[in-house]
Amino acid sequence: IMTTDTEISNSDSLAHDSIIILDDVTDFIQKDVRKTQFMATLSHELKTPVAAIEMSTDLLTSIKVGKLNDEQKEYVDKINDQTRHIRRMINEVLDLSKIESGIIDFELENTEVNLLIEEALQTVQPFLKNKNIRISTEIQEQLPIVKVDNHKVLWTINNFLTNAIRYTPDKGKIDLSASLKDGEIHIEVTDHGQGIDKENQKRIFEKYVRLNKNEKGGTGLGLAISKEFIEAMDGKIGVHSEIGKGSTFWIKLKTNITS
Ligand code: ADP
Repeated sequence: IMTTDTEISNSDSLAHDSIIILDDVTDFIQKDVRKTQFMATLSHELKTPVAAIEMSTDLLTSIKVGKLNDEQKEYVDKINDQTRHIRRMINEVLDLSKIESGIIDFELENTEVNLLIEEALQTVQPFLKNKNIRISTEIQEQLPIVKVDNHKVLWTINNFLTNAIRYTPDKGKIDLSASLKDGEIHIEVTDHGQGIDKENQKRIFEKYVRLNKNEKGGTGLGLAISKEFIEAMDGKIGVHSEIGKGSTFWIKLKTNITS
């Protein structure tokens, strides 16, 4: 605003334009903040019924109610699956609103990247098995320790992996690597799926962006949250991709080593 005031004395027409632009941006930011607040309130309200559904399905599968037959069990599994999906979306919206209001804590700890990767692989194991996807890992030996919030790095790797699994056909392959380059640790998740065109490669890191609205997916917040997490730890995040060939999502984390 200070700059705009100076501009007023310099040139009337320029100042006029600047004020209009500033107004638009303020309006846009206010709408954006309101949207996130609304989403956060809604998500918060949804937590209670979702917890109630989870409790009920837990009870259904407990011994007290009696043994379920295979068909009943299949339906309960479906409810559980979908409830987990809703819970994940709720948490994403809540995480983002916490990031935006600056109330998310970062706990930096000395971390071995290979342990984080192992943990991420374990988490996605059921999804890999489900689609019969093979994961090929290439982890450089004796990688230096990084000082990061390991939950947030893990969250990001998990997000890359779940996206990669979604865009990999049954019996396909995903590559995961970690290496030291120029004093930074590079972690890369590569799928050999449909790929993303140049124009959209930047957009997908913005919130609520989903390129294919029809497909069963998430909130369009996963990559936006990952970006906030990684950049807040002074890291970098990005994607290389080619249509028809696949995508490599990467993060670079600083180490104490100077290149
Ligand atoms: P969502 O929860 O909807 O997947 P993300 O932020 O993780 O949200 O991803 C945003 C969008 O980026 C996705 O909806 C999809 O269109 C695109 N995308 C993400 N990962 C991949 C990938 N590995 N291959 C192709 N498109 C992808």
